[in-house]
Amino acid sequence: MALLNDKSAIITGASSGIGRAAAKVFAREGAKLVITGRRQEALDAVVAEIEGGQAIAVSGDVRDETLQIRLVETALGRFGKLDIAFNNAGGLGEMGPVAGLSLDGWRETIETNLTASFLGAKHQSAAMGEGGGSLIFTSTFVGYTAGMPGMGAYAASKAGLIGLVQVLAAELASRKIRVNALLPGGTDTPAAITNAPDATEELLAFVNGLHALKRMAQPEEIANAALFLASDLSSFVTGTAMLADGGVSISRT
Ligand code: NAP
Repeated sequence: MALLNDKSAIITGASSGIGRAAAKVFAREGAKLVITGRRQEALDAVVAEIEGGQAIAVSGDVRDETLQIRLVETALGRFGKLDIAFNNAGGLGEMGPVAGLSLDGWRETIETNLTASFLGAKHQSAAMGEGGGSLIFTSTFVGYTAGMPGMGAYAASKAGLIGLVQVLAAELASRKIRVNALLPGGTDTPAAITNAPDATEELLAFVNGLHALKRMAQPEEIANAALFLASDLSSFVTGTAMLADGGVSISRT
């Protein structure tokens, strides 16, 4: 039996990396999807890769409240309900020591990683029906179990998500809506610092070595953790910050 049979889900940041992998995993498990990102062509490619499933691409910027409303309306209009939202879009934003961060860079990172998720949660939770639902937010171990130099705005934005998740979980429990944060470790996606144009083999070895498992995750491994949180397998899990981090948080070797 498929884990998300007949469920209706929104996935943000589905044009690439973890969100793209999640779109494929959720669809394979029977979900009907509304996927989003800014790049329409990349979204269309993901839709084309979802064989036999149902997925609709709606492009836009997650910081735009009208997009967030449109995503919910599309799910309700096309699939009749909304059961799951994986609020995953985000990025590192401006990097560097806090003393050198620009205010614009700080705001841009907070808007993309935190404020956009607030907007998503606001409209998604309002649209979820009597059957309850699952809201998932992609956070990170950075700013939760580890302080990484140069990631001040990113860490603050992602740690803010964990606070938002705790409040939402308490507010929405009576409506059977579970709310959780997913905290990946280093994951081999286009956004990873190891895939930056100036990344070296030494950097890759360093990042791999930070993890107890001595490697980064593949996007599908994080998508599988999202599947757990989206499905009834996690029926007693709410308000958590769930690490799927290859042991980067506990490794000292
Ligand atoms: P990715 O491959 O670069 O994917 C990022 C996704 O977010 C893309 O689909 C991108 O779509 C979308 N996005 C970014 N800004 C957006 C905006 N303003 N409006 C709409 N969509 C936007 O990176 P990823 O590694 O899969 O990242 C997914 C999430 O995991 C992020 O929240 C990231 O912070 C988090 N994370 C990643 C790692 C890692 O090591 N990779 C570790 C921990 C947490 P468009 O480019 O089409 O707009």
